[in-house]
Amino acid sequence: MAVPTLDELLARGVRGRRVLVRADLNVPLADGQITDDTRIRASLPTLRRLLQAGARVVVCSHLGRPKGQRVPELTLRPVAPRLAELLSTGVSFCSDCVGEEALRAVSELEDGDAILLENLRFHAGETRNDADFARALASLADAYVDDAFGTAHRAHASTAGVPALLSDVAAGELLQSELRHLRSVREPVRPLLVVLGGAKVSDKLAVLEALAPHADALAIGGAMSYTFMAARGEPTGKSLMEAERIEDARRVMDAAESAGRRLLLPTDHVVAERVEAGATTRIVREIPEGWMGVDIGPETAERYAGEVAAAQSVFWNGPMGVFEIDAFAAGTERVARAAAETHATTVVGGGDSLAAINRLGLGSRITHLSTGGGASLEYVQGLSLPGVTALER
Ligand code: ADP
Ligand code: MG
Repeated sequence: MAVPTLDELLARGVRGRRVLVRADLNVPLADGQITDDTRIRASLPTLRRLLQAGARVVVCSHLGRPKGQRVPELTLRPVAPRLAELLSTGVSFCSDCVGEEALRAVSELEDGDAILLENLRFHAGETRNDADFARALASLADAYVDDAFGTAHRAHASTAGVPALLSDVAAGELLQSELRHLRSVREPVRPLLVVLGGAKVSDKLAVLEALAPHADALAIGGAMSYTFMAARGEPTGKSLMEAERIEDARRVMDAAESAGRRLLLPTDHVVAERVEAGATTRIVREIPEGWMGVDIGPETAERYAGEVAAAQSVFWNGPMGVFEIDAFAAGTERVARAAAETHATTVVGGGDSLAAINRLGLGSRITHLSTGGGASLEYVQGLSLPGVTALER
């Protein structure tokens, strides 16, 4: 079964038809001001094409976690003018995403008009994938486009319920681009190198278990490496370590070994007495009592950079150290530069990993920056995403 594309929907003709677009407009807000409009910008290509083709575009999204309540701070209202500005066209706003008011507002649209609906999660039926709520939402549209990759791993009313009710559906540009690039991790040109870091093994256990036997090499950095080191009986000092995950780490190492894959751990470390700018640091092979690991050491950074350079496909999630503090950022920076320099396909996911790449100004030199943290991790593990399955025809 295939997922219909936006091109196919446009070829069938959308002029005068109401097209419901599930976008991911879950932007950070502070005092009602949008502090980062990356997600709004990412939704523009699909919206532009639909508007140009004369569709009556009905945009919906969630924002934050209002848990079925009308939380005034989580209104999508401030997004409408920003969307209008970026699209250079008017975008009206409806203060409810279903019901009389929404039906009336949508019926007043003309060809090439856009309307943004209020936060889907103001209704509890959204995350519960309630049948009545899905029907109410679907009644606003003749066709449906999913472009919200970040929520594709959730079977919610707007991602799974609605496409089950409408026959004419499609994946938007952003969703398609995410799937295309992440497929290069699922079905890679080998060798595939996976670099995993960040704070915790527990956050990424499923992806570790799935990718350890799949990747040709798995390089581990960040705080999660200390749990792996503990599993090998190596000292970790005061480093962040999850004692209750040592067994899991051992299982991941065994899985890699029985599949004949390489699992790489740091062989040197930057340690500090405190996680604080200005703290005294040392470079060590063995983490001393009373010190904590805050970054991979220079030798490890060089080795991981060499692995990146030798791979044909690279998937990276999670920084190599506490990159937010300059003195602990060298390992993350070295790996990021290697990823920017290689001609291999490079895919980076994870909020903090993207922040690290962008801070170095290397974003444009990475093949694909994945916007959907949880969804990208689930997809590269080989899981099917409910939001994508719901589009299959
Ligand atoms: P992402 O958002 O890219 O998925 P994570 O959220 O898993 O990444 O992890 C990022 C966090 O991990 C950062 O805040 C970073 O400071 C922290 N981190 C990385 N290495 C260490 C370490 N050695 N000790 C403590 N925290 C670390
Ligand atoms: Mg994070």
